[in-house]
Amino acid sequence: MKISEVIAVYKRKGLPEREALILIAKYLRKSKEYILAHDDMECPDEVLKLLDKRLSGYPLQYILGEVEFYGRTFYISEGVLIPRWETEGLVELAIKYIKEYNLKNLIDIGLGSGIIAVTLALETGVFIYGTDVSKKALEVARKNADRYGIKCDFRLGAFADPFVEIWDNIEMVVSNPPYVRSDVKLQKELSYEPPEALFAGPEGLDFYKEFFKKYKIDGKIVLMEIGHDQGNALRELTGGKIIKDLAGKDRYLVVNRKE
Ligand code: SAM
Ligand code: GLN
Repeated sequence: MKISEVIAVYKRKGLPEREALILIAKYLRKSKEYILAHDDMECPDEVLKLLDKRLSGYPLQYILGEVEFYGRTFYISEGVLIPRWETEGLVELAIKYIKEYNLKNLIDIGLGSGIIAVTLALETGVFIYGTDVSKKALEVARKNADRYGIKCDFRLGAFADPFVEIWDNIEMVVSNPPYVRSDVKLQKELSYEPPEALFAGPEGLDFYKEFFKKYKIDGKIVLMEIGHDQGNALRELTGGKIIKDLAGKDRYLVVNRKE
């Protein structure tokens, strides 16, 4: 089948033209523009398998192995959470605090692909410590840190446990932790993502409860992404401030113990 026909056939099956084009271009290692200009070429059978995989709900980003975040391209792979747009808001808030207080040492708990850590290092020059309980996440985060040559120290482990010896030097904690309630039934596309990146107990609050119980945060700023219906509970738990995302939903928790 010619590429133009393949695109038309898959569009009828429900795959957006843009996605088909991105996948074909990726497979043939050409630009989308090149493919459009040569769409009378025969389409290799392997491409049809990729298109079928996407059509079945498998995330586009995992097929491509790359994802955009805050204007940059990052590696991503199965087993690691695909970055969400809300997290760019977390990064913007972090940048504001880093500049306002001239911060130098931060920790990102739950690195995932490392998008928060790498972006903050690149945007502000801070040194980033980072942890994740997932080996796969740590591997991808390190790959992204190398890709951009940032100064960092990423370790496998829960919360800030791998960095107890330098906890006092850490000025700010940033985290997009798991916060989905364990009884939530995920839509198909999300079911391909690692459960330990998403679920956090019956109210989705387990991570926050454990962190604030375990760590002394005097003199530090803690900035975390939260679920849209968790603002009240977390304000009560921490005495912090809740900030809304671009969609007008409660999304970020700030506990500022510098003031
Ligand atoms: N920071 C990435 C982002 O924003 O795209 C990933 C966020 S994902 C929602 C949460 C991450 O935290 C997952 O990579 C998961 O493995 C990790 N994680 C879960 N519990 C953790 C804990 N107690 N300590 C450290 N990492 C944890
Ligand atoms: N916003 C994500 C979702 O609903 C959850 C991310 C998280 O738990 N940190 O899929």
